[in-house]
Amino acid sequence: MMHKNRRAVAATLSRALGLVAPEDPAALARHARGYLRDIFRRCDLGVTGVNFAVAETGTLCICTNEGNGRLTATRPRVHIALMGIEKIIPRLADLAVFLKVLARSATGQPITVYTSLIHGPRRSGDPDGPEQLHVVILDAGRWAIQRSEYRDVLRCIRCGACLNACPVYQAIGGHAYGSVYPGPIGSIVTPMLGDGTGAELAYASSLCGACQEICPVRIAIPDLLIRWRQMEAGRLLPAWERAALWAYARIARHPAAWARLGRWAMALLRRLGRGGWLRRGPGPLRAWTTVRDLPVPQRSAFREWWASRKGGAS
Ligand code: SF4
Repeated sequence: MMHKNRRAVAATLSRALGLVAPEDPAALARHARGYLRDIFRRCDLGVTGVNFAVAETGTLCICTNEGNGRLTATRPRVHIALMGIEKIIPRLADLAVFLKVLARSATGQPITVYTSLIHGPRRSGDPDGPEQLHVVILDAGRWAIQRSEYRDVLRCIRCGACLNACPVYQAIGGHAYGSVYPGPIGSIVTPMLGDGTGAELAYASSLCGACQEICPVRIAIPDLLIRWRQMEAGRLLPAWERAALWAYARIARHPAAWARLGRWAMALLRRLGRGGWLRRGPGPLRAWTTVRDLPVPQRSAFREWWASRKGGAS
């Protein structure tokens, strides 16, 4: 609930519990605990994710700051743990490094408050734990990613640091796109792991690089976003825009043709303008001039001014 303030939490609890919840954090925690504990007590089956799975020992590691993972994994009779194949790490010794990196990058803590290491169902003599433990290991497109140029995304430990550092997601919040994987890394992972929806998310980035800088496992997110855009551009852009970009790419390689085209475009815009402003642009430019006025271009282009200046200086 780090993306909600205490007023939003109070409003949510009031709605769910049919009471007027106070805006005091300690009182809110008491209300939530009283309500949720009872539900946990009555549940027969608990489903959790897995943060890391250790191949050497068969250990499942679940990290939560609220304790909900531990309650779900120990109280019900059956525990089902769902994990992607990329969660598997080789040795128990590696886990210490990952736990430290995860907690520091996610919330700045030395370690996540509830870090549970699970080795199986309850044994005789154990005070708690489920009678049955089932581990579901998901591929769901991950092997395909592993074999693609996007394989680095499988290094992600879901710390959320890129989400918190991103100026776009700072403004819109983590749940804006309704994806399980929010933020910059989610823009790449969401369309690859799901049904292909969310391909346009890669465009919700200024490519400032804040995500790559903060990422503890150094995933080059902006590079991957650009690659994704290149791959998806053909599918996402309308035909006229693809044709315009194709023409732009060809003309921009020939300076003389580019300068001539610029002069024609400036002459056209000057002709369409009134009183020094273009208020109703032609074609696709109209969408822009509907909400903004565009000053008509000067008589001489920048490159002409620059050439004359250089000529004067020499
Ligand atoms: S991409 Fe990096 S910063 Fe973003 S959630 Fe994954 S590990 Fe954390």
